[in-house]
Amino acid sequence: MRSIPMLNIRAEYEHLKREIDSAISGCLDHQQWIFGPELARFEEKVASYIGVKHCIGVSSGTDALVLALRALAIKLKGEDYFNSADEIITTAFTFTATGDAILRAGATPVFVDIDPYTKNISAEDIENYLDSSSGNTVVGIIPVHLYGQSCRMDKIMSAAEKRGLFVLEDVAQAFGGMWRGLKLGSLGNAGALSFFPTKNLGGMGDGGMITTNDDAIMDLVRQLLKHGGKDKYNSDYIGYNARLDTLQAAVLLAKMQYIDEFNDRRRSIASLYSNELNGIEGLSLPGHTLGAHHVYHQYTVCTAVRDNLKEYLKSRGISSMVYYPVALHKMRVFSGRARNNGILTNTENAISEVLSLPISPMQKGEDTTVIIESIKNFFDRR
Ligand SMILES: *Cc1c(COP(=O)(O)O)cnc(C)c1O
Repeated sequence: MRSIPMLNIRAEYEHLKREIDSAISGCLDHQQWIFGPELARFEEKVASYIGVKHCIGVSSGTDALVLALRALAIKLKGEDYFNSADEIITTAFTFTATGDAILRAGATPVFVDIDPYTKNISAEDIENYLDSSSGNTVVGIIPVHLYGQSCRMDKIMSAAEKRGLFVLEDVAQAFGGMWRGLKLGSLGNAGALSFFPTKNLGGMGDGGMITTNDDAIMDLVRQLLKHGGKDKYNSDYIGYNARLDTLQAAVLLAKMQYIDEFNDRRRSIASLYSNELNGIEGLSLPGHTLGAHHVYHQYTVCTAVRDNLKEYLKSRGISSMVYYPVALHKMRVFSGRARNNGILTNTENAISEVLSLPISPMQKGEDTTVIIESIKNFFDRR
């Protein structure tokens, strides 16, 4: 029986082997492991790709969120951290790191519900919370461009601008994604990218980046990532060792040449799925937002018989994943440290119904066909 993985990173490496090997051997030659020349080149390349003034490489997507929030606290409040009275609105339907970064920056996460169709944070629910009596302690919003698709950035930016709030985009799943022709990470005050190996632009280990047009945020992040001072041996702020390795930057520079091609491959697999799986009773396909250029980090369907479908696919050698099995507001770490905007009904429904299908840029057409046929068979037999 053939076995179909969620993502085939070995096939990606084999496809780009010559470029990646030569990037690594370039580093072996110069031996500048920290702040080497590839790091600056990669930062400039991503800045021009996304269309922002500054990109700052950091050690992970999580650290990108934490350092961006710390820089915002220093800039906006003149303090090292936010405090628990400072609320930051985000979604509970995301990876833990989004909410955890808010706690690590000293603020209180406020979870609002998602749009049931796209699973992205609901712009209406953000507005509702901001208009409520508790809304005036909010300092910022973290929209997560889930599965590779932009949130409703027109509504979110205008809600934020009206009230003087910051917007930090979580772009971990959406490298190359766009909102009305603008690259994600260029719309808010800052953006956080992740180069975790399975992300659309993945490295060979951990890595992340902060995007911003704001000189003050750039300057503060550059200090925080090396112990909190302009001079490494004389700190001003509580800092981190959170640099992006030269070696990762070199590998990512090589892979970056292929990002649009790889995102296009993901998009064509997604449109095959959508054409072929359309109209199956009991199965809903990913919702699309008008104006969003979706890069399908995940292709995520919904069904009430999710666990049975997952088992059935597994019996046929097909991997699938549940992103996410637990909502943030149900995790112990957030208990007593976060607030919910009422009952998060759409979030809780999504938790029990979502299933992400394999979507690998190197996925063979015949594998996609097997996946489609298996899903059709599963629903036919019911
Ligand atoms: C992957 C991810 C992160 C964290 O990135 P790391 O590089 O793994 O630290 C943050 N937010 C979201 C939505 C993610 O998917």
